[in-house]
Amino acid sequence: MFKTNSCQEKNWSIGDLTMKPGVSYAQPSTQTGRTDVNSVTNWNVPLVWEGTFDPVVIDAIYQKMDPRVAVVVFAVGKYTRFLKGFMESGEKHFLVGFRVTYYIFTDNKDDVPKIEFGKGRGVSIIAVPSANRWQDVVLGRMKWATITIDKQIRNEADYLFMMDIDSVFHNRFGAESLSRLSAVLHRGYYKNTDRDKFPYERRPLSKAYIPAGAGDYYYTAAVWGGYLEDMYQLVKYCHEQSVEDSKNKIEAVWQEESHLNRYLLYNKPTKVLSPEYLWSDYDQKPADIKVIRISQLVKNYAEVRPNGGH
Ligand code: UDP
Ligand code: MN
Repeated sequence: MFKTNSCQEKNWSIGDLTMKPGVSYAQPSTQTGRTDVNSVTNWNVPLVWEGTFDPVVIDAIYQKMDPRVAVVVFAVGKYTRFLKGFMESGEKHFLVGFRVTYYIFTDNKDDVPKIEFGKGRGVSIIAVPSANRWQDVVLGRMKWATITIDKQIRNEADYLFMMDIDSVFHNRFGAESLSRLSAVLHRGYYKNTDRDKFPYERRPLSKAYIPAGAGDYYYTAAVWGGYLEDMYQLVKYCHEQSVEDSKNKIEAVWQEESHLNRYLLYNKPTKVLSPEYLWSDYDQKPADIKVIRISQLVKNYAEVRPNGGH
């Protein structure tokens, strides 16, 4: 299945849970753990919070695989200013000890900062056109990522994350986030108990339509990841659905996030990550968020976006 990647060379398959003997770690308990939050979904996959995994165990399993991780980020127009903070903090907290390549899609490669990377880590720069509307950058990500996975990234990575650039890592964002398809609960809606209040696309004309009475959670499109091929399918899906929408002269209410949410309703993710995996500097930290792993910056929308506004 994975022709040219490192799994075959190293004789492991992605998703293995094997580990070397001799790693010492605390004994897991069947009786104690997080009780203030639910740490399993109703399709029985982990809902990941601080305190639901042991980093020593998780790292031992995934470091044995030594996967190559691609992080796809866009920095178009004035958003190149976020690259330094994102990558420098990523080097301190994001999958430390793993091989990571930041794929930077930008219209201004001269503004990509030179920073120090850990061993086996670095950048790959991909030129994309400038845009007049922020909506075009945001949706264009799905098109350019589809093309570039096909042309290049497929041969270079085992896992892939799609991330917004306007964020800073503050604490461990580690291998506990890896799975076939991992999606992050949107911080604004994770306590919402009325699924009809999720900001899904509600117009039946759009391909992202979700009817009333349906829905599990509301996921953010600012951080999502998984196996390369599964992510490719999903990125391509978001691209194709948005092309269909534009043929019908409609744009989903939250662009690719709406398409992502529809896909994940009928193709359940294999891990759900708590909002620890994307918080925001706009919001206070509630008691159930023990650790903020990555946080969106406060930004001046009118100043940073080509056409301003939300
Ligand atoms: N983006 C960009 N240039 C733009 C608008 C957006 O590079 O002019 C990229 C950037 O990676 C950004 C992402 O698209 O983080 C999503 O846009 P934004 O962060 O503004 O959306 P928000 O998180 O505020 O909804
Ligand atoms: Mn953002």
